[in-house]
Amino acid sequence: MKYKITELLGDGISAELATAVRTVVARLPIEIEFEPIDLSLGNRQARGLAIYDDAAEAMHRNRFTLKYPTTTAKESPNAILRQRCQFSVIHRPVATIPGVPTNFRGQLALNIVRVATGGTYDDPGRPVGTEAAVSLRIVERQPCWQAARYAFALAQRLGRSMTSSSKHTIQRATDGLFETIVSEVARDFPDVRHQEELFDALLAKIIMHPDRFSVVLVLNEYGDFLSDMACGLIGSMGMGASSSLSFDAKGDVHLAMFDPAGGTAPDIAGKNLANPTAIILALAMLLTEIGEHELGLQLERTTLDLIGRGVRTRDLHGELSTSDFASAVADEMASRLTLAAW
Ligand code: ATP
Repeated sequence: MKYKITELLGDGISAELATAVRTVVARLPIEIEFEPIDLSLGNRQARGLAIYDDAAEAMHRNRFTLKYPTTTAKESPNAILRQRCQFSVIHRPVATIPGVPTNFRGQLALNIVRVATGGTYDDPGRPVGTEAAVSLRIVERQPCWQAARYAFALAQRLGRSMTSSSKHTIQRATDGLFETIVSEVARDFPDVRHQEELFDALLAKIIMHPDRFSVVLVLNEYGDFLSDMACGLIGSMGMGASSSLSFDAKGDVHLAMFDPAGGTAPDIAGKNLANPTAIILALAMLLTEIGEHELGLQLERTTLDLIGRGVRTRDLHGELSTSDFASAVADEMASRLTLAAW
């Protein structure tokens, strides 16, 4: 199979992460051709908003995009791309990483599916005099429906339950609409067990019984809180990846952009020291989304297994450089795929 993927190059450690991705991709049994667009700060300053026209055009043409960290200067590239591509849902897996020190003793493997628009984050709130303020919470049917379809389909693929969570007993209009839409979508997935949890209780239950939760669907601000709590539990804010998704009229993924959680790390840029785990996990998510489920899963497992066996970069108290770690993942993938073929 041959795939064409848009690659949005950025700043800081972006170049060495891109090299790491190429090292891994070279050993996969599929062909991936990258169409690079330079979103580095220098090029954004030189080209102005026109560079985003190029990016959006390539993203629409190729449908799937890998994005490297970019510096936010005058504008936020992520905010502009979200608007140009109408990303309405964010999928953020957060799973225990072997070898990363953590205060939490449980094993976590959550897929947080978050409605990326509305909630209180598009809040046209205003002060009322000097002693009060009002806020408007917005929940819309379409992104909730898209997120719910995506979450149920993901749970179906994983053979797990789907948990929707909100405060519908308090926020009756907004969260009530969300849970109503989720229940409607649930009817199309009779083989997936749907559980509903109040959001405050969910936070406690995830900590007490992490194994009971896999795919969790939430509105915008809850997704933000939950992602950070989950990252705290696994002891790392920077080693995961996420996807931003837009959908067609049938509710299928139309455009998808995958990016690492971490930033541009200017202090270590160009030194071959960066940990490429997050971008490799972003690549694994991309593989899954383009239909290469087995490869995506295998790449994620291989990367985490290696870290668990002590194959680590310096930030994890290992000795490997960015390129050494990428080569280790690429070699291990190649040998596991050869074994699997037998
Ligand atoms: P930005 O403005 O892009 O967010 P930043 O330096 O403020 O950049 P991060 O990029 O998240 O924020 O970096 C925070 C710290 O974590 C830095 O010391 C950086 O070196 C380290 N760091 C970030 N990403 C990585 C990585 N992939 N590998 C190793 N260390 C990293």
